[in-house]
Amino acid sequence: MDLRSGGTISENVRNVFEQIRHAMQQSGRPEGTVRVVAATKSAGLEQIREGLAAGLTILGENRLQEALPKIEALRGLPIHWHFIGHLQRRKARLVVGAFDLIHSVDSLELAEEINKRAQEVGIRQAVLLEVNLAGEPTKSGFQPDELARLLPQVGTLPHLDVRGLMAIPPPVSDPEQARPSFRRLRELAERLSRQGISTVSLKELSMGMSSDYPVAVEEGATMVRVGTAIFGARHG
Ligand SMILES: *Cc1c(COP(=O)(O)O)cnc(C)c1O
Repeated sequence: MDLRSGGTISENVRNVFEQIRHAMQQSGRPEGTVRVVAATKSAGLEQIREGLAAGLTILGENRLQEALPKIEALRGLPIHWHFIGHLQRRKARLVVGAFDLIHSVDSLELAEEINKRAQEVGIRQAVLLEVNLAGEPTKSGFQPDELARLLPQVGTLPHLDVRGLMAIPPPVSDPEQARPSFRRLRELAERLSRQGISTVSLKELSMGMSSDYPVAVEEGATMVRVGTAIFGARHG
């Protein structure tokens, strides 16, 4: 497995697509069921344009103040914008409607706030629920048991369109070490789906980053969030 990001941006994008195709074959998954969310937090407009030309269609931003000018500058291009970073409740208003999918709903309070803001503008906002798999105290996200308990309440929010789960497992040196976390997220989604809350769908699994996305794909990821492997290492 070669996850180097040493090439040009177009070469890197092709490499990511190729790695994903290979991982799909390895695990017998049908083609076209995994999407690449390019994490653009370090990328400038020129780099982003090069990535789009190479076939990227989904851009993931995690800082609102950097995302909004980019959205404005690239308006008119066929881009799906995803919000992948931690979202403060008081900023929910600015994210709702501006992003096609929010990956990082990490509390009931935030879910309620997004629901309220989406109602105000008359939309249903697509979201994923972020899970803190390893129970890391410094990380945001629902604890798995907490999510099982709160899901019925989340399911009552009519302007929230829950599509699945997202996780950011602790960094590992060997991609194989991340496999148990990815498997646990998939199993959690399966277990929660059996709770049978009809207003909530948990089909999407946003997991895997530059260092481990092929393993995430093997374990059922439907979206991988890849930054460094496309745009190179971040500076500062
Ligand atoms: C930056 C970021 C990524 C991508 O990380 P890389 O290791 O550069 O691929 C994925 N998810 C989130 C939430 C991020 O902030």
